Amino acid sequence: MLKWVLLAGFAGVLFYWWRQKQRHPRQRPEVESLVRCSRCGRYVSVHSALRTTEGDFLCSEHAGPKQAGDPD
Ligand SMILES: [Zn+2]
Repeated sequence: MLKWVLLAGFAGVLFYWWRQKQRHPRQRPEVESLVRCSRCGRYVSVHSALRTTEGDFLCSEHAGPKQAGDPD
């Protein structure tokens, strides 16, 4: 008798744990943080931006090497 009570309790815990897992399938921020390109001032998502050694961010257009004649 006690065996079945323990088994039912264990199954309940397992089911509760499984439901908790189902409720949060993936943890990701709802709003992607934006950073400002230090060259053109455009806001780009932090994932597509490139971080310079100075700590500034560059958009994908300005992430490449500096072009001659570009204003700095
Ligand atoms: Zn830019």
